Amino acid sequence: MIKIIKYPDTFLRRTAKKVTDFDNELQKLAESMAQRMFQDDGIGLAAPQVNIGQRLLVIGQADAKNYKTYVNPEITFFSKNKEVSEEGCLSLPKIFGLVRRAKKVHVKYQDLTGLVHKDKLSGLEAVVLQHELDHLNGILFIDRAEEITKGQDILDSLKK
Ligand SMILES: [Zn+2]
Repeated sequence: MIKIIKYPDTFLRRTAKKVTDFDNELQKLAESMAQRMFQDDGIGLAAPQVNIGQRLLVIGQADAKNYKTYVNPEITFFSKNKEVSEEGCLSLPKIFGLVRRAKKVHVKYQDLTGLVHKDKLSGLEAVVLQHELDHLNGILFIDRAEEITKGQDILDSLKK
């Protein structure tokens, strides 16, 4: 099973490259990312978190065993309405913080065959998409957190 890299690994700070090859490898990567995510009870995982610098992410619910893949996602609309919620990250275990994000987003993305789609997301899905898309740009939730609610001590020790 693929490994998740953890903060403060500098790879998490890189900007991922656009996916151009919609091949078998890409499908296998998405599938193994989803398996990893379910294994760790995550609800989203971005390729840079498994040491792959490509603009690919998966979102799913661990209990549903189904997931959605977003390739080269771009948010085309952020609602003015924002909401603060507590976020965590598989690359920052045991650390949680309050992050303010748009309640609704519109996203344009490609599927694993390269077809372009548009989606409107709200609620938890919108939050997860914004969090995962940040990973493609080297941004972590701790950069945006208004407050760290759990694991400040862990974070401080990692920053040293
Ligand atoms: Zn994350």
